[in-house]
Amino acid sequence: MHQYIGGGPRTGSSGVVHQVTNPADGSTVADLVLGDGRDADLAVDAANRAFPVWSRATPAERSAALHRLARLLDERAREFAETESRQTGKPIRLSTGFDVPGTVDNTAFFAGAARHLEGKAAAEYSADHTSAIRREPIGVVASIAPWNYPLQMAAWKILPAIAAGNTIVLKPAEITPLTALLFAQACTDAGIPDGVVNVVVGTGPVAGEALLAHPDVRMVSFTGSTPVGKRVMEIASRTVKRVHLELGGKAPFVVFDDADLEAAIHGAVAGSLINTGQDCTAATRAYVHRSRFDEFVAGVADLYARVSLGDPFDPATDLGPLVSYTQRDRVAGFVDRARGYGAEIVVGGEAPGGALAAGAYYRPTLVTGVAQDSEIVRDEVFGPVLTVLPFDTDEQALALANDTPFGLAASVWTRDHYRALRAVREIAAGCVWVNDHIPIISEMPHGGYKASGFGKDMSTYSFEEYTQVKHTMHDLTGVARKPWHRTIFEL
Ligand code: NAD
Repeated sequence: MHQYIGGGPRTGSSGVVHQVTNPADGSTVADLVLGDGRDADLAVDAANRAFPVWSRATPAERSAALHRLARLLDERAREFAETESRQTGKPIRLSTGFDVPGTVDNTAFFAGAARHLEGKAAAEYSADHTSAIRREPIGVVASIAPWNYPLQMAAWKILPAIAAGNTIVLKPAEITPLTALLFAQACTDAGIPDGVVNVVVGTGPVAGEALLAHPDVRMVSFTGSTPVGKRVMEIASRTVKRVHLELGGKAPFVVFDDADLEAAIHGAVAGSLINTGQDCTAATRAYVHRSRFDEFVAGVADLYARVSLGDPFDPATDLGPLVSYTQRDRVAGFVDRARGYGAEIVVGGEAPGGALAAGAYYRPTLVTGVAQDSEIVRDEVFGPVLTVLPFDTDEQALALANDTPFGLAASVWTRDHYRALRAVREIAAGCVWVNDHIPIISEMPHGGYKASGFGKDMSTYSFEEYTQVKHTMHDLTGVARKPWHRTIFEL
């Protein structure tokens, strides 16, 4: 399958053959022909044609289709998990325990949400009129997704959009398009009408920009890096599309002096290494009270050294490769440059040799001795790398946590309830965990502050963003000559 348009697979129009590669060993997973502007046009046309029918389906009908989809995804869980691990290199334990069940749960959640679309109560805000609010779908949505969680990102974009009655064209990252294509096929199999869900696989500048510029696309939802997010917003502004952006992150991980250190150490390892660190909410900057700094660094270093790198399909593997050799080299570049400006690499800082040398692997890497304004602390590394800096006061810790253009997620570690509440209030991020880092849940919103974007995924907050509000006002008097006309004319 190369593209999925109008309820069925198609080849791409560009004629350019693209190889989807397994980063664990460099083998080819699939060859597909990329789509271009012609495929974007076909997909938008299909979505446009499907809109009148799907937007008028009753909430119960849309909900029933999504419930069928949830069941189908669950039945096909193994195929989804294996395909996801093959195209990304993520350990099968993660795809079977997180990506796929999370997606099934999201689908079930939006099946429920589809039946809870409400406006405010109708009322007489003017004595002579009844006003009411309608929440309506927006039309054709174009969504552009990143490569780190291809299945979950497809689901986070498609589900709220179609639950609310929109139709959608999704452009997944071209290096990991396969589970989005399987998801679109499953939508058809679940009875969702042709054209409601379309997938165009192509590059960002070609297929992505064609979708962003298309006059019939009414909303753009994008998850990816902040620089591309700015470009998305710029192109979308030309045709005044609604824009929803989920961008980069650089989550702080603040450990106060009264923290349960064993919990913080385990939380830092899991929070920084999830998905090989290619997670926009991953713990990347640990700030640890000076009195606990050495103990924390030693604890994380010990666990990092014991994490097992290996074949993603071996259930004993903790950490897979990065998504690509390019990404591995990018991560290694950050660490090598940090060495150059005086960082201490406590553990890691290299690609493993031996049997793993053929894959895009990189060892978990703990970095100390770097300044707050150094590149490795400021920029998104998007790999298994954690920096640790000390602090002396609560005010200093929170200032360091907020000293970033990003604001997606953060965590604080303390046993003091008041300290936790103050930190939650002070940190400028879309999610703040207390004594944990990473868990997400379908009912709660995911999205950023500041340069991490705006707009929420998951939850009813995201559902509402895929609707527009219409005020409808009905005259109650039935009189031809209404009193307010006298403000305009006296006849
Ligand atoms: P990216 O910005 O390079 O690409 C994201 C998507 O945009 C891809 O599909 C790509 O093909 C497309 N794209 C690239 N250039 C484009 C253009 N000019 N026009 C239209 N589309 C274009 O990001 P990535 O490297 O795939 O993913 C990693 C980034 O995603 C990180 O910055 C990470 O923080 C972010 N991310 C954020 C969230 C979140 O919820 N906030 C979730 C996952 C990933």
